[in-house]
Amino acid sequence: MGLSEIAARVAAAEAAAGRAPGSVKLIAVSKVQPSERVEAVLRAGHRLFGENYVQEAAGKWPAWRAEFPEVAVHMIGPLQTNKAKLAVELFEAIHTLDRPSLAVKLASLAQARGASPELFVQVNTGAEPQKAGVLPAEVDGFVAEARAKDLPVVGLMCIPPEGEDAGPHFAMLAEMAARNGLAGLSMGMSSDFEAAIAAGATHVRVGSAIFGARDYGAR
Ligand SMILES: *Cc1c(COP(=O)(O)O)cnc(C)c1O
Repeated sequence: MGLSEIAARVAAAEAAAGRAPGSVKLIAVSKVQPSERVEAVLRAGHRLFGENYVQEAAGKWPAWRAEFPEVAVHMIGPLQTNKAKLAVELFEAIHTLDRPSLAVKLASLAQARGASPELFVQVNTGAEPQKAGVLPAEVDGFVAEARAKDLPVVGLMCIPPEGEDAGPHFAMLAEMAARNGLAGLSMGMSSDFEAAIAAGATHVRVGSAIFGARDYGAR
């Protein structure tokens, strides 16, 4: 696999779903990947990346941003409140707004800075006890409260339960976004991004299919 093959598959899935070319943003998830692999994708012209760890992103992206000014990096991993200040300085978007205390923190940072990254509300579509995210029944109220705080909520994000058909989770997320007037849908990873695009994804988060397997031991 690799970037060009995945980009071609995204384009084919857009076409198959009757979606406009370019309507799906491919986020290349570069967490834990060796810098040579990320640089190869940057040199190939790709400019949208995803990271899971604030500290790791803070260490590697400032230098690449200087070299490739049009780069955008999105936070797609769980965000601790005490890392929120660094996160709003580092990322163009945060896909993991998942609890009221984080909304309060991001709102106060947005006030102080006069700016905020775009935000996706993470939804725990499978209501899994160990997984982050707002429960489906609480999404409408949570989105309303975030908007009341003037937070720029642009969409919803989900990570379907492992080993389950992701389709119903993607459909549920699309339905919740539509009824809340949210255009953004961050869903789909290496194994299921085409199904996500068929269900309306606007942002797919693809890591290993672009870069190869992650080696957490090598960090
Ligand atoms: C790591 C990660 C991805 C990418 O996963 P792959 O299976 O490598 O495509 C996507 N989304 C989130 C939230 C992740 O943590």
